[in-house]
Amino acid sequence: MEAHISFERQRLIGLDAPRPLIISGPCSAESESQVLQTALALKKLDRVHVLRAGVWKPRTRPSNFEGIGSVALAWVRAAGKATGLPTAIEVANSRHVEEALKAGIDILWIGARSTANPFAVQEIADTLRGTDTPILVKNPVNPDIELWIGALERVNKAGITKLGAIHRGFSTFERSKYRNKPTWEIPIELKRRVPGLPIICDPSHICGRTETLQEVAQNALDLNFDGLMIESHVRPGEALSDAKQQLTPEETGQLLSKLVFRHESVTDVLTRTKLEELRERINKIDHEVLNIMAERMAVAEEIGSYKKQNNITILQASRWDEIVRTRLEEGQEKNLTKDFVMKLFEIIHRESIEHQSRVMNE
Ligand code: PEP
Ligand code: MN
Repeated sequence: MEAHISFERQRLIGLDAPRPLIISGPCSAESESQVLQTALALKKLDRVHVLRAGVWKPRTRPSNFEGIGSVALAWVRAAGKATGLPTAIEVANSRHVEEALKAGIDILWIGARSTANPFAVQEIADTLRGTDTPILVKNPVNPDIELWIGALERVNKAGITKLGAIHRGFSTFERSKYRNKPTWEIPIELKRRVPGLPIICDPSHICGRTETLQEVAQNALDLNFDGLMIESHVRPGEALSDAKQQLTPEETGQLLSKLVFRHESVTDVLTRTKLEELRERINKIDHEVLNIMAERMAVAEEIGSYKKQNNITILQASRWDEIVRTRLEEGQEKNLTKDFVMKLFEIIHRESIEHQSRVMNE
């Protein structure tokens, strides 16, 4: 389905949003001095554009710290004033929106749990109507791009055009090196479906720990994201929420200075020709991949009709096991990751089964 979203790319935080836009600050506002000290230290880096802080925290379990609440709004606002940085907080219902706007907070974001709930998003959107507050919409906790786009559409329909998306990863049942798996194909698909919509990556909530932040932040820039949201706290060890993933402002500065910024397009003629040549090779290879897949499915259909004549089931566990084993082995020799080869053959096999079923049930 087509996405119906109109936005003003350059107006996310005023007339000329810097790129990449860096949003940083504590997961939660915990005390007036914690917010102020963090903000001042971040300002000193001279590369942070927006101060973030959570005032109301949607926590998975009720025993976790749920934020200071309304009184913290004034602390965030004061830290913004002291540093000259625009401020951003999360809102989850219409009371939050009203109080945040009254307190003079500049940018609001809708958290991952709220994006997954169309009632909450609609309530927020209705309360925003008539304002021109910049709104950032985090991806829903589950990997559902329609929910993400739907939330952006609801906010946009309420007349908000200073819009952006935040990619914070997706929760999974399985154990993974990430707190929330990045599943980069989803924000990439969002870019394709809503061209030009600013997308900011939140490596802090993707990683859940500090060790992998650099790598994920760099991945996001290499995928041409428009900015980063990084949680930063003057004393991460004492943080009341998300302690393991927060950096000190100085560490945030180090992370930012180690990032490599690359251009989306090349202006130099020689580099461009070389790139075009390589892309042409990729085009040919993809063409071959599709031909080979079509050929494989044609053979699968022949197998289907053979199995039909001889009354044999489509799936034979031992054959699938043999395919997995041999392909993984061969993939390893060819320097392809196990994960990739496994996923590749899972979808090839699923498609083969569909072709066979079609023939068998004709
Ligand atoms: C946060 O930004 O601190 C937060 C709660 O994020 P998310 O909605 O991505 O979990
Ligand atoms: Mn957090």
